[in-house]
Amino acid sequence: MTDINPPNYLGTKSRVDSPTDADTQNHLKQLIRTIPDFPKPGIQFRDITTLLEDAWGFKRVIDAFVEHYRYTPIDKVVAIEARGFVTGGAIAHQLNCGLVVARKAGKLPHEVEKQEYDLEYGTDCIEIHKTAIQPDERCLIVDDLLATGGTCLATVKLVERLGGNIIGCAFIVDLPDLGGAKRLADYDVLTLVDFEGD
Ligand code: AMP
Repeated sequence: MTDINPPNYLGTKSRVDSPTDADTQNHLKQLIRTIPDFPKPGIQFRDITTLLEDAWGFKRVIDAFVEHYRYTPIDKVVAIEARGFVTGGAIAHQLNCGLVVARKAGKLPHEVEKQEYDLEYGTDCIEIHKTAIQPDERCLIVDDLLATGGTCLATVKLVERLGGNIIGCAFIVDLPDLGGAKRLADYDVLTLVDFEGD
């Protein structure tokens, strides 16, 4: 029998260490473009499209997530619209999980659960199909960036309302000054790089 000794990420209730080393984190950060004052004055928009355009960068972030969750049983990856769809789809494929899309209001065609939430810039509503998650399914929530945590917490509520269990929340970027990881303190939060400020 093969002697595997997987890291124990299960059952922890704290933020886990990023699985990328400092050089990799710096390289990934350099691939993320910052747009000042978008979509509103005062917001530093961290644009991951430039990271996705880079073959090494895209592969490295997906590999980092996959390495981290390789030994964690997951039934569904719940991907948040819209940039979460990109990483969520690739992670679900690699981990052999189903993919659930959490979408902005009015986009999904069947019966939905909905949850309003505050955003760094405004308020919004997120929805998932009522049929998307079965009771006790183990769900990993994925988005590109964690700011105040409002979007992710709303998605957590939707998943839990449908009876799913949250095994973790994974993001490429963390903006620690906005406190999202603290609001998600009851869950395992994985982020790969962070930026100071908002
Ligand atoms: P929050 O709910 O405050 O954690 O905001 C996270 C969501 O808003 C994610 O879907 C992000 O894509 C988006 N977002 C919030 N702030 C930024 C930012 N400064 N740069 C890029 N995306 C952001």
